[in-house]
Amino acid sequence: MSTPSSQSPIPNPQSPPVIGVFGSGQLGRMLALASHRLGIRVHTFSPERDTPTGQVAEREICASYDDREAVRSFVRGVDAVTFEFENVPAHVAEIAREEGVAVRPGGHVLHVAQNRLREKSFLVEAGLPVTPFAPVHSLANLQTALAQLGTPAVLKTAAFGYDGKGQVKIDDPAQAAAAWQALGGQAAIVESFVAFERELSVVAARGVDDTFAAFPLVENRHINHILDVTIAPAQVSAEVAAEAERLTRRLMEVLDVVGVLCVEFFLLPEKNPRESAPSASSAFYSSGRLLINEIAPRPHNSGHWTIEGAVTSQFEQQARAVCALPLGSSEQLRPAAMVNLLGDLWTQGEPDWAALLAYPTAKLHLYGKSAARPGRKMGHVTVTAQTVDEALAIALTARASLVGR
Ligand code: AMP
Repeated sequence: MSTPSSQSPIPNPQSPPVIGVFGSGQLGRMLALASHRLGIRVHTFSPERDTPTGQVAEREICASYDDREAVRSFVRGVDAVTFEFENVPAHVAEIAREEGVAVRPGGHVLHVAQNRLREKSFLVEAGLPVTPFAPVHSLANLQTALAQLGTPAVLKTAAFGYDGKGQVKIDDPAQAAAAWQALGGQAAIVESFVAFERELSVVAARGVDDTFAAFPLVENRHINHILDVTIAPAQVSAEVAAEAERLTRRLMEVLDVVGVLCVEFFLLPEKNPRESAPSASSAFYSSGRLLINEIAPRPHNSGHWTIEGAVTSQFEQQARAVCALPLGSSEQLRPAAMVNLLGDLWTQGEPDWAALLAYPTAKLHLYGKSAARPGRKMGHVTVTAQTVDEALAIALTARASLVGR
């Protein structure tokens, strides 16, 4: 094995660099596929077998994250460590550090992103705009916070939340006790419910040498809190796009992220953006229209379109950043739309893949997951076209053809 460094940026075919990925889902799979083209190998570590990443990686280690010896032995066999989901225990990054293996992004980034309270507090301290929120450790806390923030509000567990899991909407203060109970009394945050105009995100990469490359701002549409559609680029003003990129860059610099990171934003309506916000919490707002909802220090579902739509994909950027190689161009090649394929599509049996592939510009990605459950991300389809409207129309029609609609 070679040691990737900024001094020797060309992967050596005699001794290719090896990225060790903790986690084994579709993000690791697409990282491995992009890495292979660069002559970089991928090993994956997770408690599961025959995983989306493991199916295409050079090695798949199946062990508990709590098995410290297994973690140590895994990191000794790789040149750099990364993560394909945030909720890997902190000791994993610590062991890699002890073994002198580069961890990109560093354990400090995981620590912040693993917990909504730490994440929001970090963002506020960095002067970045966030949804008004308050920490909640008891029902009394929640009641006090609701009195300040007003309703509607959203109660979210501080830890282990994604795709709307661990969230309860509160429309009336009388629902506080039920909401607190529904989340099992865990540490949480409560946020104002934002009457946003759209949801947007930026995926960007930062190299070991501080270089920064952001993909264009995209628009995301969710169904049941799960991403359904991404449209690239977002159809917003150049000012909003520039502001989103500026905030993302600042965040990655202050948090000292090496790797790929996604920032999810709420775009407030143009007129009287404060109208939708409770006045007691105006201290949280910047003068702009963007609020940060969430960050993910890794490639993101809203960046999958970059595989076909950009000069360098988000996964190739991750491989480059993790191996201390120069970043590629994040320029967009064509307008693009990405639609997710959830397990719900399997309700009536195997989807009609031939029907989808009859759309010649529909690019299918399946993640190799054997069990299709409702809400589970099984794959996605990207279409590039002359305009985002055209790309979206084809992507939606192609997806509908899978189930004969
Ligand atoms: P999250 O897991 O925090 O990203 O939430 C998932 C989705 O729930 C978001 O993409 C939004 O569509 C919605 N959501 C979360 N928080 C809020 C909020 N404070 N106001 C309005 N919608 C929200």
